Formats: sequence, C-alpha cells, structure tokens
Amino acid sequence: MYTIGIDIGSTTSKCVILKDGADIVSKSLLLGGIGTAAPARSFSEALEAAGLKETDLNASAATGYGRNRWEGADYQISELSCHALGAHHLFPDVRTIIDIGGQDAKVMALNSKGRMQNFIMNDKCAAGTGRFLDVMALVLQTPVSEFGRLAAGSAEHARISSTCTVFAESEVISQLANGVGLQDLVAGICDSVAARVASQAKRLDIRPGICMTGGVAMNGGVRMALEKELNAEISVSPLAQYMGAIGAALYAYEKAVHN
Ligand code: ADP
Repeated sequence: MYTIGIDIGSTTSKCVILKDGADIVSKSLLLGGIGTAAPARSFSEALEAAGLKETDLNASAATGYGRNRWEGADYQISELSCHALGAHHLFPDVRTIIDIGGQDAKVMALNSKGRMQNFIMNDKCAAGTGRFLDVMALVLQTPVSEFGRLAAGSAEHARISSTCTVFAESEVISQLANGVGLQDLVAGICDSVAARVASQAKRLDIRPGICMTGGVAMNGGVRMALEKELNAEISVSPLAQYMGAIGAALYAYEKAVHN
C-alpha cells in the first residue's frame, strides 16, 4: 500500500511516499510554499521518483500552513500532529520536539506513546524562526546551509543584542562594518535564534528525548546553541525537514488501513 504526505509550508513544499506505512520510497523538497507551484511540482516529483502514478496511491494527507489549499487530499491534518507522528516513528523515545520552520517555531511535549500533550508556538515574531536566519543570510550573502560549518569555526561568538529582526539586521550590518568576522557573526546569529526558542521551550516541561525537526534543524549552529541553552542532547534526523510530510503519510496509512 502506498500513501503520500504533502507538507505545504510557508517557504518550502515537501512530499514523502511511504510503502506500507514504513519504508520511504521517495521524497521531494522544493523551495516555494503556499501560493506557489511548488506543492504540485513536489507531488509530481515524488511520484516520478517512486515510479508510481497518482492512481497507485491508496491515500493522501496534506499538512502544513497551506494544507487547506491542497485540493484532492483524502485527509488534512495539523503539522503539530504530523511532526509528533513522524518524530515518534523515527525516534520512538522522543518526548520533546522543537520544530523551527521558515516562519514559526513550535515546541511540543509528547507522552511515551508519541501523543502530543502540550505545545507552545511562536508565529508572531520572525526572531526565533528560519525567517530571521534567512534575512541574515541575505545580509551576509552567505547561504543558511553554510551557517553550521561557519558557526563551528567561530573563536568568539558575536553578541546580537536586538531581539527584533529589523534592529538585529542593522546591528549585524554595523558589526560587519566594524570588522567582526563572518564566522563570529554567524555564530552570534545562531545563538540569538537558539536563545529565543529556548526561552519558549522552557515554558513547557522539557523532558529528555529531545528532537529537532523543520528546516532549521539542518543548521548545526542553531542546534549546538540550543543544546547549550537547554543543557541537553538534541537528536536530528537527516530527514528533519521532511518530518511533517512523513507524519502525514503515516496518518494517511493509518486511516487507509482502518477504514
Ligand atoms: P516551512 O515548512 O515553514 O516552509 P521548513 O521547515 O522547510 O519551513 O524550514 C525552512 C527554513 O529552514 C528556512 O527558513 C531556512 O532557514 C532553513 N533551512 C533550509 N534548508 C537548510 C539547510 N540546508 N541548512 C540550514 N538551514 C536550512
């Protein structure tokens, strides 16, 4: 049985096809989220990579910010539930999920069965989300995919004191003009995001078994800074950015099996 999960985010679209609710047979990730052609292209790309036709799919589920705009999904499900399902599938012992995406950040507490018990979300302020990192990447003319490597090479992390993205941008430009090195600035930027998310996370009961999901999980600078802030190890799967789509495909499988 084949099921597909479609995760339409604010900045990226992801699709995952699962065989029998277990094996990932294909995946696709494209830049461009809600309101773009990326979700449809990602859907076709995933089918093509799996060597399947749409009629071969037994069930589909859409999630993410743009899930209501995807016509033809058998099911729609919140990204909170999907990240919980996906993370529990890959890390059965996970009890806390930190999901940092392109425009929001969520911290979820799970019970031992992987069910979400509580969550805290920031979707009001760009600081503490991928948006903050993307703005800084433009200022520094350095891709976010380089941030982890650069932050790891910093001898003295820069201090970014502004919590507002707009002011922080000016602060980074002036530090750049004052000769602060790229590695130190990138490390400071990652620290700033981690500090915001950590203070958000501390409002929940953080239980060991922490896992990061969402695109920012691919940023080793933020992950390392968060580990320091929370004084705990954080697991990250190479599939972290696909976690919502994996969860949606799992949900579609469960529904298809029990219907
Ligand atoms: P959404 O689902 O809201 O569209 P994602 O979970 O896909 O967002 O995360 C997007 C964010 O992930 C971007 O804002 C960017 O900062 C970060 N990101 C994406 N790819 C990478 C990468 N290779 N390395 C570091 N950060 C990344």
